[in-house]
Amino acid sequence: MIFPLRRIVKCGICNTGLTGGWSKGRSTRYPYYRCAGGCTKSIKLKVLDDAVVDLLKHVTPKEEAINLFISRMYKVYHERYSRLRTMKDRADTEIVTLQETRRQLVREKLIGYYSDDIF
Ligand SMILES: [Zn+2]
Repeated sequence: MIFPLRRIVKCGICNTGLTGGWSKGRSTRYPYYRCAGGCTKSIKLKVLDDAVVDLLKHVTPKEEAINLFISRMYKVYHERYSRLRTMKDRADTEIVTLQETRRQLVREKLIGYYSDDIF
């Protein structure tokens, strides 16, 4: 993941989550974060990443906070998994329906319901 802080760190001006992007140099591209809300400020990826790492070195979360974080992550994970599972199940059902429709059309073609042009 090239932009691990994307959406996590908020813009200091408008409080919108930052997004990642690339700027072109002469011979290479450079990653940076910028406000997703349209502010013109941007910051080099390494500068922000290093600042967050420095900040984290000075922060020790309490066990209660860690447990809360873990339970929240489980909740988010299960919600996303459930949503994706539902989408997959719907897609699988549609595939079965489409396969049956195709089989039906082929049967009807073989019976002679459709000319070659129509089929
Ligand atoms: Zn902003």
